[in-house]
Amino acid sequence: MTTYYIKKYGIHEIHKADCVWLPIRKGMVKLGDFQTNKEALQKAKTLYVDLNPCSTCCTISKKQ
Ligand SMILES: [Zn+2]
Repeated sequence: MTTYYIKKYGIHEIHKADCVWLPIRKGMVKLGDFQTNKEALQKAKTLYVDLNPCSTCCTISKKQ
């Protein structure tokens, strides 16, 4: 399981707990623990309509 975070303000971005951007970005809230980026994204979409997976840590095309 991986812990995912979402940026609460501005453009909502999903990040993994170990993403390099996590300490830099402000307003991160914990989304939860998920097996895959896809599951995290599905959960996030129930909270925010407009969001992006982080291109550094959460590229959804990446095979898992
Ligand atoms: Zn990230």
